[in-house]
Amino acid sequence: MHNYPITDSTLAGKIILVTGAGDGIGREAALTYAGAGATVILLGRTVSKLEAVYDEIIAAGNPEPAIVPLDLKGATKTHYQGLNATIVDQFGKLDGLLHNAGLLGVLSPFEHIDHDSWNDVIQVNVTAQFMMTQALLPALKKSASASIVFTSSGVGRKGRAFWGPYAVSKFATEGLAQVMADEYEGSSIRVNVINPGATRTSMRGRAYPGEDAQKLKTPADHMPLYVYLMSDDSRAVNGESVDAQ
Ligand code: NDP
Repeated sequence: MHNYPITDSTLAGKIILVTGAGDGIGREAALTYAGAGATVILLGRTVSKLEAVYDEIIAAGNPEPAIVPLDLKGATKTHYQGLNATIVDQFGKLDGLLHNAGLLGVLSPFEHIDHDSWNDVIQVNVTAQFMMTQALLPALKKSASASIVFTSSGVGRKGRAFWGPYAVSKFATEGLAQVMADEYEGSSIRVNVINPGATRTSMRGRAYPGEDAQKLKTPADHMPLYVYLMSDDSRAVNGESVDAQ
């Protein structure tokens, strides 16, 4: 799955929503999915970044994407239900949901963790995923084969000093994915997790400002795995937590 070949029709006809599609790994995934023939729904909080991705997809001659500006910090059940209705109305189904958006928050000693900062990270990294996935189930159930992919981290498998709420949110993401995978086993919906590992993005730069970013893998390096889990070739894969590296 790490060498999965990507062609311009690997994801033809698929409707895939990518959260945090304006930057980093999500941006690369959106561009790659579109290049593989998917119609991509670009969700994020900074409209100018989403528009830049939209323009790039159009310039490459790939299927016209949709833009959904949404801040996961403040989004409510009504926003997510509206999103589901729009997707069903415009596209008839949702084949893929890549939960990629993430908030690093503040890295600090445990005793200095700020309550508001804790709440923000848990809201964006866990609660928003729960609410969005639940609200989008009607659209996902209209797909013959739907794939939900969550994004974890090394600190979502083993806690690390100073990574407080972010690490806890990634453990919760792994848990949510396991619960869902077990519940939907044998259905048309499969649920898996990707841990990208150290990757050259602005989030990584904020966490490790002193390191040489040129030595890191790029988002593009992970795309065979990201495409594989959205393709029909992974139909039988459910409940896996996969390291991209
Ligand atoms: P980036 O910070 O580069 O990109 C994150 C994206 O999420 C941005 O587009 C950002 O929007 C969006 N986002 C953040 N908060 C919100 C919000 N409240 N509402 C909507 N969108 C939001 O991060 P990466 O690409 O590095 O990370 C992608 C995923 O991979 C994350 O889940 C991260 O935890 C995970 N990960 C990354 C690793 C790495 O080394 N890079 C390692 C392990 C896991 P905006 O551009 O507007 O800020």
